[in-house]
Amino acid sequence: MNILLVYAHPEPKSLNGSLKNFSVKRLEDAGHVVRVSDLYAMKWKASLDADDSMDRRSDMRFDPALDSKRAFETGRQSEDIALEQDKLRWADAVILQFPLWWFSMPAILKGWVERVYAYGFAYGVGEHSDARWGDRYGEGTMAGKRAMLIVTAGGWESHYSPRGINGPMDDVLFPIQHGILYYPGFDVLPPFVIYRTSRIDEAGFSRIRDALGQRLDDLWNTTPIPFRPQNGGAYDIPQLTLRPEVAPDQVGFAAHTG
Ligand SMILES: Cc1cc2nc3c(=O)[nH]c(=O)nc-3n(C[C@H](O)[C@H](O)[C@H](O)COP(=O)(O)OP(=O)(O)OC[C@H]3O[C@@H](n4cnc5c(N)ncnc54)[C@H](O)[C@@H]3O)c2cc1C
Repeated sequence: MNILLVYAHPEPKSLNGSLKNFSVKRLEDAGHVVRVSDLYAMKWKASLDADDSMDRRSDMRFDPALDSKRAFETGRQSEDIALEQDKLRWADAVILQFPLWWFSMPAILKGWVERVYAYGFAYGVGEHSDARWGDRYGEGTMAGKRAMLIVTAGGWESHYSPRGINGPMDDVLFPIQHGILYYPGFDVLPPFVIYRTSRIDEAGFSRIRDALGQRLDDLWNTTPIPFRPQNGGAYDIPQLTLRPEVAPDQVGFAAHTG
């Protein structure tokens, strides 16, 4: 299988760097082909702006969505964007690996998403009408591919438990797992999260490696998070609210998982 690892940590000798090297070797030893987008090493341009189109016209108002659409459709996207899209098309599975920074991904990775997820590629796909709201949330360009997060967090596991002060980790990661991965069609596997990173010693690192290795070995048979498909009957269209009979007592993020 082809695996794309999108990696966002500025220090190669970090915990994240060690785990990235471990993951690449484990996957390659299992016979997979692995490509790594090491965003800091690539000096990835994080900000989406008018330079993302080769046809930039300084006299025209920049429209982030429509300019993205035009550049994608006409093959006039910035080359770095097109290359990452090719890697996504090539991949059977995509892993995003990053340290949790301010309850989300580092800005450089958010910028990768903003720029690579062009209009027509990751959104604005399929028929958009009052009867059908596009191919998204379970359908779309990434349908049939798997995705997984590898995340390190300074906070304790209890801080991210259902009643923990930071909010449950499933909720913290919902915008990434549901909004960024499920939206363009990925089957999203449960995340691999490492907590309390400052307390990791050699023994702890060894346990983490074993657990991560097992998750990588199981990449193809792990059951994805059962997010509800947009066009599977659970939602009224075009309101895009859950039908009254679906999870009637639930609201918030958890209601969108079956
Ligand atoms: C801007 C910013 C925002 C943050 N926001 C949050 C937040 O919102 N929520 C939260 O929970 N945390 C937050 N943190 C903490 C952050 O998530 C952690 O610092 C990060 O996940 C640690 O990952 P690292 O790769 O940088 O670890 P490192 O600092 O490189 O390493 C962590 C530990 O692992 C050990 N280690 C590393 N490599 C090895 C190895 N090969 N073998 C054995 N041991 C090893 C090190 O000795 C060290 O003790 C934030 C940090 C920053 C800088």
